Amino acid sequence: MEHADKNRNTLSFLAHFEGPCPRCGFKLHHPTSNNCPECGFILLVTLKKPFQCTSWHLFLFGLIASLGVCIDQAGLFFAARVYQGSPIMWAWVLPELFFFVLIAAGIVLWWKARKWANELSNNSKLFIGAAGLVLPIIWFNIIFWLFVLTS
Ligand SMILES: [Zn+2]
Repeated sequence: MEHADKNRNTLSFLAHFEGPCPRCGFKLHHPTSNNCPECGFILLVTLKKPFQCTSWHLFLFGLIASLGVCIDQAGLFFAARVYQGSPIMWAWVLPELFFFVLIAAGIVLWWKARKWANELSNNSKLFIGAAGLVLPIIWFNIIFWLFVLTS
């Protein structure tokens, strides 16, 4: 839609509008321009799809939270050694960095798979959503037990 069309549609809508300015709350009474007379806010009528949490979002949350788990543990290993005045144990930090890169790549792939993920069956979506919610816990345990069993 062209800018001129948006402006014309907004003015047409505003010609019948009575209500508060979305920014300052000033009571607008059939405004004749697309600026609030009180605060100057540009008024624009748009159609927006309301946000809907999907299994894709839940799994994305899981990946991002898992990334946070890696950063947290790598930072802890790093800070603890520096605090003690001991040399950095790269054998502890490197697996964290490897998983960090792996999960970051997973986020890129998952971002690209959005359309595919939204067309899956309801059972698959349910599984993916649930997996997203437990993913950070799974990553934490993988990293934690890897550390415990190798040190
Ligand atoms: Zn206003």
